[in-house]
Amino acid sequence: MAERTFSIIKPDATRRNLTGKVNTVIENAGLRIVAQRRIQMSRAQAEKFYEIHKERPFFGELVEFMISEPVVVQVLEGDNAVARYREVMGATNPANADEGTIRKLYAESVGENSVHGSDSAENAALEIVQFFKPEDIVG
Ligand code: GDP
Repeated sequence: MAERTFSIIKPDATRRNLTGKVNTVIENAGLRIVAQRRIQMSRAQAEKFYEIHKERPFFGELVEFMISEPVVVQVLEGDNAVARYREVMGATNPANADEGTIRKLYAESVGENSVHGSDSAENAALEIVQFFKPEDIVG
């Protein structure tokens, strides 16, 4: 079933000019980039986006990282896009990520791990509306 998920190419990857390389892995996995924009996330946006982690010890560090450089926000579409993108991203900690995954290829650490991808279709819908207007997504 065609589905959409929300993706962020994080500051460690944009800083190293890896946007195109990450997009190649995404496209080779059969996912279509149906919306994409480079933005400087505000502190308020980052705190809202990662609200679920606000009690975690790494929350402050995570917010500082996400606003440290521009990011690329994306909507990806394809069959089982949420699960498919999680597979292609690899484990949160690149040390545990499978060969060929974005995090194995490019991530620097458990925190600076190159990409975000929604963990459910419900969260994908909530995350997409934080960054895109419906008319800016062209499937
Ligand atoms: P994800 O769904 O694979 O991105 O992982 P989580 O939802 O568990 O964590 C969200 C994000 O928080 C991760 O992608 C990391 O950027 C960051 N994060 C998770 N664990 C740690 C940690 O132990 N230290 C730091 N600095 N950041 C972390």
